[in-house]
Amino acid sequence: MSVLNPIPFLDLKTPHIELRLQLQDAFERVLNSGWYIQGNELKLFEEEFAHYCEAKHCIGVGNGLDALHLILRAYGIGDGDEVIVPSNTYIATWLAASYAGATPIPVEPDERTYNIDPARIEAAITSRTKAIMVVHLYGQPADMDAIIVIAKKHNLKVIEDAAQAHGARYKGKRVGTLGDAAGFSFYPGKNLGAIGDGGAVTTSDAELAEKIRVLGNYGSHVKYHNEVKGYNSRLDELQAAFLRAKLKKLEAWNSQRKVVAADYFHQLNGSNLVLPFVPEWADPVWHLFVVRSQQRENLQAHLQQQGIGTMIHYPIPPHLQPAYSELGYKQGDFPIAEAIHREVLSLPMGPTMSGAQVTQVIKVTNDYLRS
Ligand SMILES: *Cc1c(COP(=O)(O)O)cnc(C)c1O
Repeated sequence: MSVLNPIPFLDLKTPHIELRLQLQDAFERVLNSGWYIQGNELKLFEEEFAHYCEAKHCIGVGNGLDALHLILRAYGIGDGDEVIVPSNTYIATWLAASYAGATPIPVEPDERTYNIDPARIEAAITSRTKAIMVVHLYGQPADMDAIIVIAKKHNLKVIEDAAQAHGARYKGKRVGTLGDAAGFSFYPGKNLGAIGDGGAVTTSDAELAEKIRVLGNYGSHVKYHNEVKGYNSRLDELQAAFLRAKLKKLEAWNSQRKVVAADYFHQLNGSNLVLPFVPEWADPVWHLFVVRSQQRENLQAHLQQQGIGTMIHYPIPPHLQPAYSELGYKQGDFPIAEAIHREVLSLPMGPTMSGAQVTQVIKVTNDYLRS
């Protein structure tokens, strides 16, 4: 049979090899500066990422979960409060609410976009609800206008979990500027990833930005003067310098993901396969290319046999995780999220996938679904 090279689900190495000189230069700059936390690289990255997102403020923090948690803390959302979250998301969205002391209240997704369904939000709002935490899942923006109308009516904050959507646009506007504040992750596998952990908050609210700066740095404006009980959540100089080098490539890398997605759209033709749905107002950045199949396990095993790596995002919804047994949910409580979790499969996707690799994934998938 064929002796094709395996195709990884995600190739993290090639983009870094392509940027080797820029990354080495970033490392040398930081090493030689003698200053490793909260220095010039962070300041410049914050300016550059805010500019990229078309946001007023950017605050670097330790990771994406911290970004979301710190936003809630800065708004004073915590004990006794409720935060609306999607039932269909990575558990970090829920954990951010829990860390703050609030209760995550799940709302089912739109079955076509996999993002929170605005039509179902109002039924979940109570007198304790303080915020809606929206996720732009798989790199596709949620339907923000409809969500903001509801939030305004009930006086709720809208927080974007933009961890999977750096650069995506909703009706022409960048994610990270659509709600009151947004949390980004720079985990290595994200569209903009550090060589380690990292995260950021974007907002146009100057007061919130300042609070988050203080909260993430031990609650202190001035060293050794602690106004509030803060945290240690900072984006270090080395990661900021690496991210500055990688940010310059983000538009090109997102474009390359779009080329891969377009090939999948045009050439995957198994009738048993549900392809992603893109509303006309969405400009997604294809963090993941997620298909749905009732034969998900078999399809994944077949692709694996042919050397093609895939992943499942995600196998178990947060409400059925042991970590959330305290909330008392059971199988069947969020059937749309549960069906999605049973059937989704993420095909290989990344900015350095070759045309030949994409063709191979399409061929093996189509052959299997036809047989
Ligand atoms: C990755 C991710 C996070 C958390 O980011 P970390 O940097 O890993 O803390 C939060 N929400 C979503 C949807 C994510 O994909």
